[in-house]
Amino acid sequence: MPVNRRFILRTGAATAATLALGCAHPPGIAATAPARGVDESAWRELLQALSPAARLSRPGAQDYQERAAADNQRYASVLPAAVLACASEPDVRAALRWCAKHAMPFAARSGGHNYAGHSTTTGLVISLRPMNRVLPHGHRLHLGGGATNSDVYAARDAGLYFPGGRCGGVGVAGLTLGGGLGFNDRKWGLTCDRLVETRVVLADGTLVRAADDENADLFWACRGGAGGNFGVNTAFVFDAVPVNSLRATVFSLSFGLGASLRVVDELQHVLDADHTHDFDVRIGFKHAGDGTTSLTLLGQRLGPEDALRRLFGPLLRLDPSTVFIEERGFWAAQDHLMDTPGPKTCYASKSLVPDQWLRPDTVAALAEWTRTWHPGPARATGYVTLFAMGGASAQPRPDETAYPHRSGRYVIDVGTHWAPGTPAEQVNALLAQIRAMHHTLRRHLVTDAAYVNFPDPDLDGWEHAYYGANHQRLTRVKRRYDPTGLFRYPQAIGKP
Ligand SMILES: Cc1cc2nc3c(=O)[nH]c(=O)nc-3n(C[C@H](O)[C@H](O)[C@H](O)COP(=O)(O)OP(=O)(O)OC[C@H]3O[C@@H](n4cnc5c(N)ncnc54)[C@H](O)[C@@H]3O)c2cc1C
Repeated sequence: MPVNRRFILRTGAATAATLALGCAHPPGIAATAPARGVDESAWRELLQALSPAARLSRPGAQDYQERAAADNQRYASVLPAAVLACASEPDVRAALRWCAKHAMPFAARSGGHNYAGHSTTTGLVISLRPMNRVLPHGHRLHLGGGATNSDVYAARDAGLYFPGGRCGGVGVAGLTLGGGLGFNDRKWGLTCDRLVETRVVLADGTLVRAADDENADLFWACRGGAGGNFGVNTAFVFDAVPVNSLRATVFSLSFGLGASLRVVDELQHVLDADHTHDFDVRIGFKHAGDGTTSLTLLGQRLGPEDALRRLFGPLLRLDPSTVFIEERGFWAAQDHLMDTPGPKTCYASKSLVPDQWLRPDTVAALAEWTRTWHPGPARATGYVTLFAMGGASAQPRPDETAYPHRSGRYVIDVGTHWAPGTPAEQVNALLAQIRAMHHTLRRHLVTDAAYVNFPDPDLDGWEHAYYGANHQRLTRVKRRYDPTGLFRYPQAIGKP
């Protein structure tokens, strides 16, 4: 076998699939069956089809562990047979054709931040991370399929922005394909609402353009129909906003849980009065795992500090334990709002998208749940985050893009983070607590609508919860663009 720099192989070693056989597979992974092994000649065939800049890492390669690991350590035991870092569209096409020919399970990966392990597989991980360029053209930003939120911020010299998420490592691909919430969605829409064009490699290896004027049904599905369903998106074009002259006031206010009712009530007045949609906020109820609890308001208002301070008058009189309010240039404000990455953890979440404000008894239930969270010996965190919606994100009709929850007042994320290695019975106790809170909220808010970018492997009726009335049309798009169901995972569209 010729030595190839791209191909680092532990000769004679067990394949990752074999290693994975010894692990208890968590639910919700991209390929539930361990990958069938392929022989060495098949791997050589894949290498020959790739560009020189592509890199294939198999178990035993120095960089395998790092490349194999997705963000959520809950799925760390699911070991791919190989990770292919694609450098170009022809690499993606070659990979898909090869997977189809050899019946190799696969999962596309951009930022690797899927909650439910949907970009993890015992087969081939097709990583687009090296395809992460961000280039301005007029008022548009052209992105490679592997760009992350950080890559977009790094390209700020052009002064162009489209609404993105808070975590630098999250891939624009996953974010956009499932919707995309951020601190600017009330002003400029969801991430998917700014998408004007995308390029997709389909199951048969063909590359197509999807936009309003070409493959319009696929374009519709790529705005909320979730990643991993129709093809691999290799490029995106966004309608961006010039922001260099804008100022924003960022804020972070913390309160004791005892003030929850009054804080949420005042905040709803602020949101109701925000007719220009310059204001955006996340409300966080959190038990930090060490016994500390908090209610935090984090967000921004486009415009000067004194205007926000006037709006916040009643909130500031509620005696917050910490107050940070500061006017900055637009980019410095976004930097402040970015999440600081810590060590990788395991996590799980359940979501709801109610179209009504929180009732007082719902707020009381949230505070009580946070106060009585049992972190267990692992000192796991429990949280409920409410992302304020409305404004521009509510303007499209529910069937205008595949993202259906246009009348949602909040997207609610009920979740927990725990340390890798926490015993299963302790993890089950944490999951039972988030299930209980989700059940209570579902009853109070009379909805089962859920956000597909916070996927929940335990969710019954996910088709309706994620997609509402758009699910039927999504299955038709699936049949048209992926008639053999090559793209599959436990919650894939069109799953039999
Ligand atoms: C720490 C953290 C913070 C988050 N913050 C936010 C937030 O502020 N707002 C928000 O809306 N969401 C947020 N999310 C959720 C996030 O939007 C989703 O997890 C999203 O799917 C991640 O995209 P990714 O590319 O990183 O994920 P990946 O795990 O790479 O992919 C997600 C799914 O899309 C598929 N996929 C990946 N790349 C492609 C591609 N190029 N073409 C086709 N399919 C592809 C994968 O197979 C998988 O099914 C957050 C998640 C985490 C873990």
